[in-house]
Amino acid sequence: MMNEIIPTEKEKAITNECVEKLKRGKLPPWKVEEELEANHGVIPPDNFKVAALCRQRYIEEKTGEKFRYIEVSEQPYKVRYQCGKHKLIWELDASDKDQRCSLCGTQLKPMGHYASLAANYVGGNEDYYSYAGRIKVKGDVEKEFTNLLVYGTGLGPMGITKGCYIINKFGGAGLSVSELASAARCLGYIFKTEELRKKAITAIEDFLLELKPEMDKKMSETGGRVGSVEFVQVRSDRGFILYVDFTADFENFRGHGGISHAVGFAKKEIEKRFQKENIQCELSVIAQGYDGDLKPSPRNKRGRYASAQISVPVQEFEEFLKISAEEFLSFVEIDCIGSQKLGCQF
Ligand SMILES: [Zn+2]
Repeated sequence: MMNEIIPTEKEKAITNECVEKLKRGKLPPWKVEEELEANHGVIPPDNFKVAALCRQRYIEEKTGEKFRYIEVSEQPYKVRYQCGKHKLIWELDASDKDQRCSLCGTQLKPMGHYASLAANYVGGNEDYYSYAGRIKVKGDVEKEFTNLLVYGTGLGPMGITKGCYIINKFGGAGLSVSELASAARCLGYIFKTEELRKKAITAIEDFLLELKPEMDKKMSETGGRVGSVEFVQVRSDRGFILYVDFTADFENFRGHGGISHAVGFAKKEIEKRFQKENIQCELSVIAQGYDGDLKPSPRNKRGRYASAQISVPVQEFEEFLKISAEEFLSFVEIDCIGSQKLGCQF
């Protein structure tokens, strides 16, 4: 149950004024703390809580939704401490009870400096919720979304907030969404010889014509149909590996359960077929590693492909970012290659 915070009369008046300013677009959401200090005499650390309440109210009034479960912490800020012995500086959540130096155990001394828990904090204990602004999309989806993030500290929420702001400034994002969604599931086999693997591929290929309609039946509840079937061969110390990767297309469902059911059925049928044709395999499995059981993404044949396009007037953009469009694209390329190397799907 949420503890309701009851603001004083003065806080109420200040909140009303800030919410109005936010609504008129005269105050960026990430500057509420500053505004409270500069124009209303609400100094740190008191301004952090009032700022969070202002943003909550603003979001509620904009969306017509209520913050019912995300409560604002009693002391929603970080405090800077110093260890007298090490001179090390620690920044801790104000609600942290343990205020000793992790290195020597000495009681830390507060330095009278405060910082917000996360940029644009709107509530939450331990996990901090941030307001990441609103974003306009048009095209296949016409809507203005309000974005909340669960984030640790750092600049992440700020980057997303500014990104949303810039997209809206250039008229919103044009969205296209593919008609069909895909789901994928893979079978994996190990054979002792190359010969056997070859035979297996031929056997499965011959069998597909008969198998596919049966698999479609297994997905009838969600209207799924087998799409592509891909054979991938890999040589390993364990033998000759064969992956058979099935995808299915769906109109109104994500279809992950459907394809799992259908490929589970195919696995048994293919094993029977192998037996009949005397093709011995060492192992027959659902190849979870290959199909990764990943969340939908156009890169792993899952989900519904969606793309967004923003038209950017180059000159205006350059003035805004204070960087040339070419330099900006190089910067994006460097980040993109880096994150792909690490496997992050940004
Ligand atoms: Zn210390």
